[in-house]
Amino acid sequence: MNYNIALLRGDGIGPEIVDSAVRVLHAIGQKYGHSFTCTPYLIGGAAIDAVGEPLPKETVEGCLKSDSVLLGAVGGPKWDSLPGNLRPEKALLGIRAALGLFTNLRPARLYPALKDACPLRESVASSGFDIMIVRELTGGIYFGDRGYREGKYGEEAYDTECYSRFEIERIARVAFETAKKRGSKVTSIDKANVLETSRLWRRTVHEVAKEFDGVECVDMLVDNAAMQLVKNPAQFDVIVTSNMFGDILSDEASQITGSIGMLPSASLNETSRGLYEPIHGSAPDIAGKGIANPIATILSAAMMLRHSFSLAAEADDIENAVDSALNAGLRTADIAERGADYLSTSQMTDEIIKRL
Ligand code: NAD
Repeated sequence: MNYNIALLRGDGIGPEIVDSAVRVLHAIGQKYGHSFTCTPYLIGGAAIDAVGEPLPKETVEGCLKSDSVLLGAVGGPKWDSLPGNLRPEKALLGIRAALGLFTNLRPARLYPALKDACPLRESVASSGFDIMIVRELTGGIYFGDRGYREGKYGEEAYDTECYSRFEIERIARVAFETAKKRGSKVTSIDKANVLETSRLWRRTVHEVAKEFDGVECVDMLVDNAAMQLVKNPAQFDVIVTSNMFGDILSDEASQITGSIGMLPSASLNETSRGLYEPIHGSAPDIAGKGIANPIATILSAAMMLRHSFSLAAEADDIENAVDSALNAGLRTADIAERGADYLSTSQMTDEIIKRL
């Protein structure tokens, strides 16, 4: 089988880590008899430099005609003083909208081999955790009616949260389907004690839950969830939540793993075409030094195999190879102990490929 992948390398460490993931894809393709045709397109600062805009039309068209999209990261100090609509980060919203990506999947897993990097108490870290956050990506307050007006005390600003039953059902189904393949538990996070949108959210999630026999459905208020994530993260399997709550909680969850260079993500729509990217940014402070951790991007490629191409065995193989490299004590600079030896981006990639 041949799969067409649009590569959006972007800026900073983006090209280095995307090239590592492509090497891993070719290696897994060779092992299982698939081929991956990877076509690069411009995005972010690199696109601004080349053609004067962060998301050229050719990039959107290229992504739309590919089977899936792998993105590195965009942005950097060189473009920080440009106006908002010309900033590299603008391309991220543009490409998500163009692909209609309404689901964001963000795993937050504590690797036993990296337990010492976890900022939580030893007694909490030792239980480990493996959470999948399912965040609604195209609705809610980030997309609602907003503006400025004259109020009782002069100038005021407002943003509006709005969710339809359709949007909630759609994301809830993704969460329950995901939980069925994992620990069979969905924690739905809302603020139903205050917000009307949360009350519709809660009611709708429970209606969808009835379609999924054997998957437990638990409600949690967002303030409690923020606390429980640091107190007892092992209680969570799949978390489903709205755009803004998911934005905040997924960053909190990534931080308790202690290793930003390790975490992948997937953004999905109703088709099998998704956009896969590490959760970290373009790390301009280490760009070009060959020391970036490629694992988040390699694991993003594994998510692509699983979610877009239904190649679960191949995805497992990559994830096991990463585990095996970490268990062997191999580290890039960001996850090495202070003063310890570490591997370069390409050496870590070689070690992972060796273990496939
Ligand atoms: P960042 O994630 O790029 O870096 C934060 C810190 O983590 C830095 O010290 C960096 O060296 C380190 N780090 C990140 N990824 C690493 C990796 N793979 N290996 C080793 N170390 C790694 O966040 P930032 O510094 O706040 O942002 C830098 C630029 O990236 C900004 O322009 C920002 O707008 C952009 N950004 C882009 C995305 C995206 O493309 N999706 C996401 C976040 C930030």
